[in-house]
Amino acid sequence: MNNTIQEMKCPSCGGQVYFDTEGQEYAFCSHCGTQVFKEDTHFDKRVELEKHKLDTNKEIAIEQVKQDTVKKNTENVLWIVFAAIVAIIFIAFAVFG
Ligand SMILES: [Zn+2]
Repeated sequence: MNNTIQEMKCPSCGGQVYFDTEGQEYAFCSHCGTQVFKEDTHFDKRVELEKHKLDTNKEIAIEQVKQDTVKKNTENVLWIVFAAIVAIIFIAFAVFG
């Protein structure tokens, strides 16, 4: 086995592309024939980062919805408390006023 053989995913079809020498700057995808540059090995990482970003955005969106629901519930409770206080004041005025 030659240790210098490297493989990466084709950015265009996801197939394996093999680099048989260290100095080889590009190779052709055996699946779709796309010329793949070694620098493109960052492609997978970029995709992962994008995916992670999307997941994070999704989590933030879910968190936002959760917080909104909590906020709405809190507002409802506040309104009930407020209505109760107003009712108590009215009753107090009716009784003592
Ligand atoms: Zn390909």
